[in-house]
Amino acid sequence: MSQTYNFCAGPAMLPHAVMEQAQKEFINWNNTGVSVMELSHRSKDYIAVATAAEQDLRDLLAIPDNYKVIFSQGGGRGQFAAVPLNILGDKTQADYLLTGQWSKLAVVEGKKYCQVNESNILMPSTDGIVAVKPASQWQISSKNTAYVHYCPNETIEGIEINDIPDTGDIPLVADMSSNILSKPLDISKFGIIYAGAQKNIGPSGLAVVIVRDDLLDKAKQETPSIFNYKLMAENGSMFNTPPTYSWYLAGLVFKWLKAQGGLSAIEEINAEKAKLLYGYIDSSDFYGNNVATVNRSKMNVPFTLASSDLDAAFLQQAQDANLMALKGHRIVGGMRASIYNAMPIEGVKALIGFMEKFERQQRGL
Ligand SMILES: *Cc1c(COP(=O)(O)O)cnc(C)c1O
Repeated sequence: MSQTYNFCAGPAMLPHAVMEQAQKEFINWNNTGVSVMELSHRSKDYIAVATAAEQDLRDLLAIPDNYKVIFSQGGGRGQFAAVPLNILGDKTQADYLLTGQWSKLAVVEGKKYCQVNESNILMPSTDGIVAVKPASQWQISSKNTAYVHYCPNETIEGIEINDIPDTGDIPLVADMSSNILSKPLDISKFGIIYAGAQKNIGPSGLAVVIVRDDLLDKAKQETPSIFNYKLMAENGSMFNTPPTYSWYLAGLVFKWLKAQGGLSAIEEINAEKAKLLYGYIDSSDFYGNNVATVNRSKMNVPFTLASSDLDAAFLQQAQDANLMALKGHRIVGGMRASIYNAMPIEGVKALIGFMEKFERQQRGL
């Protein structure tokens, strides 16, 4: 059987080398005679795993000392609630920038806790091309807004924002669930960055939160303890039992990223993969993608076929060729290839080879 490539948006594929290592030590971790998932989270052995994972993440992202890293539960969506609960403080409103489904879902949750000032930052479009306004044109509603929330990579629509807005004294909050660790990042521009793990960090069950120290003292009294950043940080993210196996696997992914040469190296590979795939889509009039070049996501590549009547055949034949999970999100239809860090360039080449073959077949060539 030829190699399977998994293009799922999440939970997504993990690096092959990481899976092999996890398999090798699955029932006997570090000669303890037990699996790492059977260790107490308070044991010396496990604390070493947890601490190394945090340090490796700090190294990769060059996280400054005045930021805490929290390994949380509740996924990305848990943070939709945790953010307002933790940092509204005595303010009653927050700004949410809208670019697609995930930024809108953050609003739905945010509205339970505060007045949400919504601002659509997509350009008005007449030609069907989707583009985001430059950050210099984004408006902050008032100086009383507690924070500005946005989603730099809309996983469903494949829209990525590379600009980082300057929000002055107002904390900038970013949902980086689908593009964290895909490139180097200037953490100091943000108040909070959070990400569900199952796209570019590790398996599901974990969310990583990077939060600036000065935002730790504002939590509402009713904030659930397990979502309270200060309490979690003070307890090394072990206020309650963390998802220990997910945390361990995330740690292996961080080590793998370091071995690849860190985030600058992975950024180059990601750029190359995206260039190949978008380049092929653009070169063909059978496939299409309507996102403006500057905003094309390097992680999630949605595309359409000449006719949606062909979608089912495309997906079936792709599956038969061991190219998995290419169905687009039900809201936007079409196809979507998620090509996170773990997707090797060979996977992208295999996909393009299949797309060429499918196109020729449909044209009867
Ligand atoms: C997947 C995703 C989420 C939701 O994550 P869960 O862990 O399922 O809660 C939130 N935001 C973005 C941008 C995502 O891609």
